Amino acid sequence: MRLSEQISNSPGEKDANMGQLTIVIPLYNEKEVFPLLVERLNSTIQHLECSVEVLFIEDGSTDGTRQLVELKVKDDKRYSAIFLSRNHGHQLALTAGLKAVKMGSDVFVLDGDLQDPPELINAFRSKMNEGFDVVYGVRKKRKASFFKKIAYWVYYRMIRGISSINLPVDSGDFCLMRYRVVAQLNRMTENDRYIRGMRTWIGFRQTGLEYERPDRAAGTTKYSWSLLFKLAYSGLFNFSRKPIQLVAKAGAVVIAISVFYASNVIYQKIFHDQNPEGFTAVVTLIVMSTGINLLALGVVGEYVYRTFELAKNRPLYVVEKFIRNGLEELPE
Ligand code: UDP
Ligand code: MG
Repeated sequence: MRLSEQISNSPGEKDANMGQLTIVIPLYNEKEVFPLLVERLNSTIQHLECSVEVLFIEDGSTDGTRQLVELKVKDDKRYSAIFLSRNHGHQLALTAGLKAVKMGSDVFVLDGDLQDPPELINAFRSKMNEGFDVVYGVRKKRKASFFKKIAYWVYYRMIRGISSINLPVDSGDFCLMRYRVVAQLNRMTENDRYIRGMRTWIGFRQTGLEYERPDRAAGTTKYSWSLLFKLAYSGLFNFSRKPIQLVAKAGAVVIAISVFYASNVIYQKIFHDQNPEGFTAVVTLIVMSTGINLLALGVVGEYVYRTFELAKNRPLYVVEKFIRNGLEELPE
């Protein structure tokens, strides 16, 4: 990294542009909610004193959201949009948005389905003004199905227990960040992104703000169970070496059991002249150790795969076009 970059990213530096706010919102097939979203954003930003840019990331929608977004940003200069070349997923869409934020601007990250109420910006800003670089939303009450609630509850606590950084529980990507935090996020090139974890890793001064998370205003969730698992996996493997340590420990336990079993067999043979019966025991042990072997291979494979993905060093996403100030800019 160049020295000038290092200096401009260094902690303690005053942000150049304190009066600027960018609201970053990824959208994927949000046709139903989009008009409502714009309405709520309009009434929120008209009361803000700083200069505001709303930055949509159109993540390859197929339901007409793309056209709605395009109309909006061509018509209203407070709104900009990045159009990705296809669906890249929430975390990468968010990454594309953060990369395009103007230097010095504070950044408010929202979901497009109004589960993160834009009106909370004032509460977030006053909290930030107490001297924080990141204020993240903490879900006090969650409206979701019973199973999802339990799954979320267990997951956040499990990941907090085993990860190498202090991940806050019950908080997602909904947050307000100073530019210097965004600048650090933009320096991170990993392709499998768990942004809430990366944000925590960065440090500076961070705090949570409780809010009630409503149901999505319209449309359906874009996170299927399998996508949720993928995200959970990223959180687990990218922020912890516990899985590998656990497998090593399991290996040690299996070895201890087999040594104990073997000594017992020898003892019986020498002192009681008894040959081992126990076909069942042998089969059980073989099956068990094969299982543990496979599990271990899986865990190691997961890390190898992640390294392989990183080694390819592909760009994280592809931008088709970028409209800012009503005009099309050239993508990177
Ligand atoms: N999203 C996206 N790309 C995707 C999936 C989701 O940009 O591939 C956006 C989506 O439009 C929404 C946000 O990410 O603004 C969160 O998605 P969703 O509300 O479906 O997730 P949930 O709140 O159910 O976890
Ligand atoms: Mg949602």
